[in-house]
Amino acid sequence: MNTICIMCPMGCALNIEEHDGKVVVSGNTCKRGELYGVQEFTHPKRAITTLVKTADGSVVSVKTSALVPKERIFEVVGKIHELDVRPDAKIGDVLAKDLLGLGVDVIVTGTAKSGVPR
Ligand code: SF4
Repeated sequence: MNTICIMCPMGCALNIEEHDGKVVVSGNTCKRGELYGVQEFTHPKRAITTLVKTADGSVVSVKTSALVPKERIFEVVGKIHELDVRPDAKIGDVLAKDLLGLGVDVIVTGTAKSGVPR
């Protein structure tokens, strides 16, 4: 498979293949790219950031505290949007712990009364 390494702005083009049960990454410039390529091939994960509305119609931006398996992203985003977010939520607040048993928390990263988080 071909993909782009997203671990830094260089964006190296990776080629990832399996040979005799071993994942082989090429095109990477550094070890981080190799590790990313192996994970992307075997069990891809992503950080999730999204916006949620509070009870008074304000908006807060949130992120997951750790990477989420790619196949669970839509489930996690749906669960985040079900959270009851208080209007006085502030940056750093933990809105949910161990979401869906994945070992990730949901953390507030920005708030805004206007609807645009800062
Ligand atoms: S392989 Fe290394 S240098 Fe290339 S994008 Fe990934 S982290 Fe950056």
